[in-house]
Amino acid sequence: MIRGINDLEVSGKIVFVRCDLNVPIEDGQITDDGRIRASLPTISNLTERGARVVVLSHLGRPNGAPDPKYSLAPVAARLGELLGVDVALATDVCGDSAKQVAENLANGQVGMLENVRFDARETGDAVARQELAKTWATFGDLFVSDGFGVVHRKQASVTDLAEALPHAAGLLVKAEADVFAKVLGDPARPYVVVLGGSKVSDKLKVIDNLISKVDRLLIGGGMCFTFLAAKGYSVGSSLLELDQIDNVSAILERAQQLNVEILLPVDLVVADAFASDANRQIVSVQEIPDGWMGLDIGPGSINLFEQSLADAQTIIWNGPMGVFEMPAFAAGTKAVAVAMTKNSGLTVVGGGDSAAAVRLLGVDEDAFSHISTGGGASLEFLEGKELPGLSVLEDK
Ligand code: AMP
Repeated sequence: MIRGINDLEVSGKIVFVRCDLNVPIEDGQITDDGRIRASLPTISNLTERGARVVVLSHLGRPNGAPDPKYSLAPVAARLGELLGVDVALATDVCGDSAKQVAENLANGQVGMLENVRFDARETGDAVARQELAKTWATFGDLFVSDGFGVVHRKQASVTDLAEALPHAAGLLVKAEADVFAKVLGDPARPYVVVLGGSKVSDKLKVIDNLISKVDRLLIGGGMCFTFLAAKGYSVGSSLLELDQIDNVSAILERAQQLNVEILLPVDLVVADAFASDANRQIVSVQEIPDGWMGLDIGPGSINLFEQSLADAQTIIWNGPMGVFEMPAFAAGTKAVAVAMTKNSGLTVVGGGDSAAAVRLLGVDEDAFSHISTGGGASLEFLEGKELPGLSVLEDK
């Protein structure tokens, strides 16, 4: 069982909260503050209950040393604006300034440490990580893990600090862990998984783990061409991973043995170049012309996928159906997203590109049961891997 924050007695305590505030920043300006907004419920819950909150996060990939380019200053400022309070930012990760910021907080106040990746020990070996975590633990009382985007990493502020202090999962991490446990444990049926994205090789482990559990697997995106090629179709100049054809053939065979339906597109939007203004046409999968590439699933495939999703009780979707960043090739991705919003079962969007597509295409985010905030973490969850940042939170 993973404890939630409401199980912690936090009043007057210094509580480290690991968030994932790794937001995009251009010319010192935050271009999408979604991750900061997502961290607010946990932080507010804790401050309202009298905690002294110290936020930890990474930003970008500095080389284990301070680098002003990756300072959390803009993030601390934005967090303060959104919370309507001042958020003091330490000038270091675990030195005098960090300690002072933590110890100067009054009940209900929020401070922040500098980018945890300014200290090489954050991503170092076990001894280094433990040393950093122990230093933090000298000036804090409790640890809350709320950065789902990093729970698949063994890092000092994710796993070692949880070992060093009494801990709980924040609201974001708890919601993610509960949803994934449900879909991987005992999902309501029919259970349908939709996979897309560019490379089949990235999704092989997910397919391996899920094929014996699902009722139907719907495949679109660039990865469908390796499946189509394995079935003997010629795919023109579409994305193709020749070295994966044997693996994909084995998946098709296994699905048949297990009585799992694998649905591939029946038609495609093909283009004569990878460009939004390329010439395009709709063709059946048997008729992809030489030199043309499939950049989206076609209307017949949309229809087929919509029908297959309509009676599902559990849907997981990971990976776009086409090059959704270009409006001409976004219809398939949008149709899958909308079909999920119309479904009254449990509908889960994996993080990363699928979540980005939902936002970009203007699909109602509230109409999904859950949109994951962690691309890598949600993929590893679906692969059946143990996530160290979650298992460390389990009360044994
Ligand atoms: P991934 O990084 O594997 O999740 O794949 C996401 C990317 O796949 C997106 O940027 C899409 O534009 C791209 N994509 C989806 N379908 C296709 C396709 N048919 N051909 C080329 N790229 C695609």
